[in-house]
Amino acid sequence: MSLDEYLRKRDFSRTPEPVGVAQAGERNRGDGRIYVIQKHAASHLHYDLRLEKDGVLKSWAIPKEPPTSRGIKRLAIQTEDHPIEYADFEGVIPEGEYGAGTVEIWDKGTFDIEEWTDEKIIVYIHGEKLRGRYCLIKFKKQENSWLFFKA
Ligand code: MN
Repeated sequence: MSLDEYLRKRDFSRTPEPVGVAQAGERNRGDGRIYVIQKHAASHLHYDLRLEKDGVLKSWAIPKEPPTSRGIKRLAIQTEDHPIEYADFEGVIPEGEYGAGTVEIWDKGTFDIEEWTDEKIIVYIHGEKLRGRYCLIKFKKQENSWLFFKA
């Protein structure tokens, strides 16, 4: 159950982050096409890219501003799956909690899949800031490390 890690890392009596229906061992069914990037001012500012897949939000932390044009490649570190409800989350994760800092939605919309495998994801993103064909390519020898760029 891929939301276990999300639940395990957080104390929901302290963080305002959504537990959603995940605590009941359930997944929410979105429309299957949620795209969101949350700007997360944690100990290190980063951008959390999330794409809905199989009832959860697949997630990557991008240490620099995501590329809006071609020719810029960004490292994207895959992180734990998040519940669908997280797509609307904005708020402050309190000091001392996992991911402490401010979360705000930086971009949001929908996406379509051209290709989705364990090593390669190609999607058409329909956001406000990110629009067009984007690739995520997994590093062969580094677990959880991907390259994210506009194709
Ligand atoms: Mn984050």
